[in-house]
Amino acid sequence: MSKLIGILAEEEQSSSSVFKAVRYFTNSYYADAITLSGGIPILLLRSSLTSTIISRLDGLLVQGGVDVTPSLYNEEKSKLCGNTQIEEDLFHLEIIKEANRLNKKILGICRGCQIINVAFGGSLYQDLSEFTIFNHKAYEEPTKASHLVKVNKESQLFNLLNKEKVMVNSLHHQALKEVAKDFKVTARAEDGCIEAIEKENILAVQWHPEALRFTDESMINLFSWLCN
Ligand code: MN
Repeated sequence: MSKLIGILAEEEQSSSSVFKAVRYFTNSYYADAITLSGGIPILLLRSSLTSTIISRLDGLLVQGGVDVTPSLYNEEKSKLCGNTQIEEDLFHLEIIKEANRLNKKILGICRGCQIINVAFGGSLYQDLSEFTIFNHKAYEEPTKASHLVKVNKESQLFNLLNKEKVMVNSLHHQALKEVAKDFKVTARAEDGCIEAIEKENILAVQWHPEALRFTDESMINLFSWLCN
């Protein structure tokens, strides 16, 4: 039986339409990676009924998107923090916690990795350029590798990629600061920036495997894990 994989929808205010309604979206890279892995992608919209649907799904994908509202990890918003959407954040936090409570598999990507960390008590660097310890380019080409990460051999991530050193793409200006309890760091960039965390039912990466899979076949294995 194909696994049903919920994708937490991102939201944007429509600017190109006469309707001023919020649009819910994902993109084809995420949906195609799930389909290729034998799963059925289902877009989860913000509504009061959504948490009840989690029990009917097999897994959850928390995709990339806007910055997480800093008050959710007890910080004032820095000038360099990007756009945030509190309603979207609260919806995502609720669904992530419910999916975890039901022991569903969860894969977090980029913002997804960050909001998963916040959901379980961790915090974020609001902009890496504010911290001289980091040397991280913010928005590189999605399908091209940008920097090296070192993967902890004692991890599910290592078992999936089968590489201790991996070149990844990098499209983030924020990153994990304090790591949530119960999670372990499973990959870091050479500047020390956290690039992956995990616990038994949750894998989360700072890079974009759904875009990198076009040049690195091993990246689809993260989706195979989610869809099995
Ligand atoms: Mn990076």
